[in-house]
Amino acid sequence: MRTQFIAGNWKMNLTQSSAAELAAGLVSELDGNTDVDVAICPSFGFLAGVAEQLGSSHIALGAQNLYPAEAGAYTGELNAEMLLDLKCEYVILGHSERRHLPDLSESNAFINLKIKSAISVGLKPILCVGELLEEREAERTTEVVEEQLENSLTDITAEQMDIITIAYEPVWAIGTGEVATPDQAEAVHGNIRQWLRTRFSDQIADATRIQYGGSVKPENARELLIQPNIDGALVGGAALSVDSFTGIIENA
Ligand code: PEP
Repeated sequence: MRTQFIAGNWKMNLTQSSAAELAAGLVSELDGNTDVDVAICPSFGFLAGVAEQLGSSHIALGAQNLYPAEAGAYTGELNAEMLLDLKCEYVILGHSERRHLPDLSESNAFINLKIKSAISVGLKPILCVGELLEEREAERTTEVVEEQLENSLTDITAEQMDIITIAYEPVWAIGTGEVATPDQAEAVHGNIRQWLRTRFSDQIADATRIQYGGSVKPENARELLIQPNIDGALVGGAALSVDSFTGIIENA
C-alpha cells in the first residue's frame, strides 16, 4: 500500500555538465518504465540544469538542504521558496553529514525549523535519522533515533506528517560500504513505525514511507527493500551512475 520511494543524494559531486548528463540518462532509462517513486537531489548549483533535463518526466527533483528564513541577509543560503521556484518537490533535512560534520553540527531544533519552513510552502521533507557506531555499540540506537524524531518533529501535526518521508540512515553505514543487515534495518524501521503510531496515529504510521540509507547498491537492494517496514532507499554513492541507480530501482 506504500509505494516504494528511491531518492538519490548526489552530495557535493559532479559538474554542471555531468549532472545534466546523469539526469538525462536516468530519464531515458526510467521514465514510464517503473512504478517506483524516484527523486534525485543534486547540488544547489545544478538544480536548474537538472530540472531542465527532467522536464515533464516522472523523476522528481530534490534539494539537499535549506535555510529556514524569509529572504534577507543570509549569505550563501537558499530558502524553501527558492527551492520551489527551482522546481524542487523534496528536500533532504537532517542528513548525518549536516548533523555530524564538526563545522556544521546541526541540532534537532534547527532541523525542526527547517522542516516547518519546507512544509509551509509545500516542499516535502525527507527527514534523516540514525545512530553513530558508538551509539549502536552502547545499545542506544532506539533511544537516539527516537530522540531525533521527537525533537526534529516537535509541533508537527498529523496533517503535516502526510508530506514527510523518514530516512533511517545508520551513520556507520553511510559511504563506508558497510550496510546494515536486513534484520538490523527492519528492526529499527519497525520501531520508527511504532513511534509514529504512538506520536501520531495508526493512519500516519501505516502511510509514512521510511527509507533505508547506508551503502545501498544493486546487489544488496532487494534483501533490504523486501522487508515489510522498508519503503525505499536514500542512496549516496550508487546514485552517481545511471547503471547502479537504475539497478537499485529495478530491485525495488
Ligand atoms: C547518503 O548519503 O544518504 C547515503 C546513504 O550514502 P551512501 O549510499 O553512499 O552510503
